Amino acid sequence: MSHSKLASIFNKDEKKVDWHDKALWFVRHKRDKSVHEVKGWEELRNLGHGIKAHMLSNLDVYLQEFEANANKNGIEVHWAADAEEHNQIVLKILKENNAKKVVKSKSMLTEECHLNPYLEADGIEVIDTDLGERIVQLAKEPPSHIVLPAIHKNRHEVDELFQEHLGTKPCDGDPQYLTGEARKHLRQKFIEADAALTGVNFAIAETGGFVVCTNEGNADMGAHLAPVHIACMGVEKIIPRQEHLGVFLRLLARSATGQPITTYSSHFKKPADRKKMHIIIVDNGRSEQLARPDFRASLHCIRCGACMNTCPIYRRSGGHSYDATIPGPIGSILSPGKDLKKYSTLPFASTLCGSCSDVCPVKIDIHTQLYKWRQIITKETPQPFIKKKSMEIMGQVFAKPSQFEKVGKIARWSLRTLPKSLINSKPNAWGKARDLPLGPKESFDDWYKKREANKDKKD
Ligand code: SF4
Repeated sequence: MSHSKLASIFNKDEKKVDWHDKALWFVRHKRDKSVHEVKGWEELRNLGHGIKAHMLSNLDVYLQEFEANANKNGIEVHWAADAEEHNQIVLKILKENNAKKVVKSKSMLTEECHLNPYLEADGIEVIDTDLGERIVQLAKEPPSHIVLPAIHKNRHEVDELFQEHLGTKPCDGDPQYLTGEARKHLRQKFIEADAALTGVNFAIAETGGFVVCTNEGNADMGAHLAPVHIACMGVEKIIPRQEHLGVFLRLLARSATGQPITTYSSHFKKPADRKKMHIIIVDNGRSEQLARPDFRASLHCIRCGACMNTCPIYRRSGGHSYDATIPGPIGSILSPGKDLKKYSTLPFASTLCGSCSDVCPVKIDIHTQLYKWRQIITKETPQPFIKKKSMEIMGQVFAKPSQFEKVGKIARWSLRTLPKSLINSKPNAWGKARDLPLGPKESFDDWYKKREANKDKKD
C-alpha cells in the first residue's frame, strides 16, 4: 500500500494522531533545549559530518583495521553480504553454542534482516529486552520509531497487552506498575538466556572495540550474563578513532531524546573469561547506496530519530505508514535504494520544509535527497494517470503567463462562488482535511500594477 493509504488508516483515530503529534513535538522541544546548552553545537555537527564523510571515503581501510584489532582482542569477526547471510551466521553461532534462548537489545539492523522470525522458525526463543521493543513484540507489530519503538501505543494499550501476555493486574495504565512488572519479567529472561544479541552504535577501527547506547542497561544485562555475545552492525557504523566517540556520543543523545548523554554508553572490547564474543559486519545494500553520489551522505546517519520527531508528516501519519524498517525522512531516502517500486511513494511523504535537515546532527541534506528521489521515481516508475496528466497541464499553464492569468481568474472566481461541498469534493484530496481560503478578487499581478500606477499618479 502507498504511504498515503497507510497514513489514512492511522488518521482514522484523530485522538491518537493528536497525542502522537504532541508526544513527538515534546521530544523535539527537549532536543532544542538540550542543544542550545552546548556552545559550538554547529561546529560539533560539522565535525560529525566531516568524520563520517572521511570514514565513508576510506571505508575499506577502516573496516579492515577494525577487523584486525577486534581479532587481536579475541572477538570473532564475520562478514555478511546481505540479510540472509547475516541470519545464517547468527543461527550457526547459536547452534554451535547450543543456544535456545536469546535476549536481544534494540538493533534496527536485526529488524531490517527480519532476524526474529528466522530464528523462531528454528525453534529459538528471541526476547526483545528494550521495553518499547518488548511491547511491540508482544503486540506482534514492528517498531514504529527507531528510538521510541512503541510511541504509537498509549499506556492503556500497554496495560491490556501486559494483562494478556504477562498476567499483570489491571492498573489503569499506571506506568510505574507496568515498568516494574516488565522489569521482573525481563530479569527472568536475562537469567535464563543462552546468548545475547546487541546492535552497535559505534565501532572503533583504532581499538577494535564497539559501543552500544541504551537507556535501560538491557544490552549490558544480556551481554554480561549470557556466555555468548553476538553484536550486529552495518558497515557504516565504523568510526576511525576512539577520540571521535566524544563527538558522536554528544550528538546522539541530545538529538535523540534531549539527554546530555545516554544513560548507558557501554564499551565492549573483548570477551570475558570463558565467554565468547562475535561481531557480524553487514552490507545489505549499503555499498550500493555508497555508490550513489547523490545519496551516499544518507550513510552518515547515527539513528537518533530527530528527523522523525520534527517531521510534520511523520508526526501525523505514524511510523507504520512507511511500511519500512526505518520510517520517516531518513527511511524515505534509504528505502527506495533497496526497492524503488515498493517504496516509490515515500519520498513524496514530505512537505520538503527542510526541518529534518536542520535538526540532523550529522548534517545530512535530507530534504534535498528526498527531492532527488522524486525526480528519479517520476522518470523510472509508472505514475498514476491523473497525477501525470495534471502535472502536464500544470506545466503548460505555468509556461505561459497569459494562460496562468486566465486559469488564476477562473480559480479565484470558483473559490469565491462555488459551494464548499463542490470545492472540497472527492477529486480534491487537499480539501479532505483542510479548508481552502476564500479566493481574492484580484491577482497579485493586478494589485501590483494598480499600486505602481497609483504611485506614478502621486509622483
Ligand atoms: S538522518 Fe539525521 S536526524 Fe535522521 S535519524 Fe539519521 S542522524 Fe538522526
